[in-house]
Amino acid sequence: MSRPRIALDLDEVVFDWLEAFIRTFEEEDGDPDAFPVPFDVASLRAARQDRYDWMEHVVGQANWRWFWEVPAGEASWWRAVPLRVGEAEAAATLAHRYDVVILTSRPRVARVPTLEWMADQEAPFQGLFVVEQAGDKVGAAAGLACDTLVDDRASVIADAILHNRTSFFPIGPVVYSQPWNQVIPRSRGGDYRRISSLEELVVQMSPRRTK
Ligand SMILES: [Mg+2]
Repeated sequence: MSRPRIALDLDEVVFDWLEAFIRTFEEEDGDPDAFPVPFDVASLRAARQDRYDWMEHVVGQANWRWFWEVPAGEASWWRAVPLRVGEAEAAATLAHRYDVVILTSRPRVARVPTLEWMADQEAPFQGLFVVEQAGDKVGAAAGLACDTLVDDRASVIADAILHNRTSFFPIGPVVYSQPWNQVIPRSRGGDYRRISSLEELVVQMSPRRTK
């Protein structure tokens, strides 16, 4: 029997992209001309995070665009995105036991830094797949014959649940718990798993020991 194949999201699962995003504005805050429209930078850390696009709303459209074009338009920005504690190690453990493909909607400029990170892990990741939109992830994961997908975006999990009704993802989609995905729209039923660390997935996927 072939090994289960897992499509693994990176940002807000393995990487703390959000921390890098917030720091970018905090570091520029002393300079009134650093980004297009001044706003209360301190409000970023206090913001309610119960929807996926909360950052865009707090910083505003003009600053959001500036962020993607200027700091996040540089490969060096992506190289500096911190890791979530323990998750690179858990991702490597998964990659040694299963077929793990990295499935991300990071922009083109992030590809080389992402490949560099993957190479540094000394883990047998099966490849990097980049989709234009998060909405393309489930189709990509299904096309790659993945048995499951791990993501923090509620809409991706909801899409995967719909696919699961046609028996893609035999072990069910996996939501990586974050404040913005506490509600998964499941209008037509279907199931998913919720984890708060990749280590939980390592444990859940381990074969049960029998005496
Ligand atoms: Mg993500």
